[in-house]
Amino acid sequence: MLLQKRVILKISKTLISQKEIENKIAEIADLINSKYKGEELVVVGILKGAFIVVSDLAKQLDIDVTFDFMSIKSYYGSESSGQIKIVKDLEYDISNKNVLIVEDIYDTGLTLSNLKKLLESRNPKTIEIFCMFVKKGVSKDPTEIDYSGFEIGSDFVVGYGLDYNGKYRELPYLAVLS
Ligand code: 5GP
Repeated sequence: MLLQKRVILKISKTLISQKEIENKIAEIADLINSKYKGEELVVVGILKGAFIVVSDLAKQLDIDVTFDFMSIKSYYGSESSGQIKIVKDLEYDISNKNVLIVEDIYDTGLTLSNLKKLLESRNPKTIEIFCMFVKKGVSKDPTEIDYSGFEIGSDFVVGYGLDYNGKYRELPYLAVLS
């Protein structure tokens, strides 16, 4: 019999449990359902990290909603402004639509602020941001986030969509790697 190599997950600790995540998604879905009652909403998930947040949120929405996805890459040069490059663009025209950007994690905030500017240039009716995990930091200004899941520390985290070298996205909880 062939011996199969097992990938050993080196998770040092669970930071946020599956249950806490489920409760938070339900809480945020309630806010979104109230806010967009009687309106149309386009949820824009940012790949790849937000695919699980979008899928869990989707099941709790009872409004007129469509889903679209974007994939972007961030570049941080010597100037701290950062640039984003679109790897996969939206399928739908968002002009005159209510748009909710769903992102996995906010670190420096550059990705989200650049993305928001880019989507604003397409003339949506409204634009809001839901970010599942927000890293605390003095130099950051997460005020542009309309719905935030959890505030966390500066550790590198994985799970619930977030990866390390493409791995660990499938974990139903948020963890710190050892
Ligand atoms: P920002 O532009 O806010 O600095 O970076 C956001 C992006 O950095 C996220 O979309 C994510 O891809 C990556 N990122 C930042 N912190 C972490 C982390 O702790 N874990 C993982 N897996 N990705 C992170």
